[in-house]
Amino acid sequence: MPAKVDPNKCEGIGACKEVCPTAVFDLKDDGKGNMKSVATRPDDCIECGLCVDACPMEAITIE
Ligand code: SF4
Repeated sequence: MPAKVDPNKCEGIGACKEVCPTAVFDLKDDGKGNMKSVATRPDDCIECGLCVDACPMEAITIE
C-alpha cells in the first residue's frame, strides 16, 4: 500500500515532499488556511519509507 498522510497530524512542513524520490506529495491548502501534504500520486510510491522517517509529526503510514 502507498504512503498515506493523516491530515489531523500533518502540519504542512513539506518534509515528505522534500525526501520522496518519486514526487508522490503535493502541499495543498485545506480550505481553512492550513497547508497539508497530500499523496496526490500514490501510484508512484515505491514504499521506501523515507517520508515516514522524515515526518516529525508521525503523520505518514504505509499500510
Ligand atoms: S514511501 Fe518513499 S516513495 Fe512512497 S511516498 Fe514515501 S518517500 Fe515517496
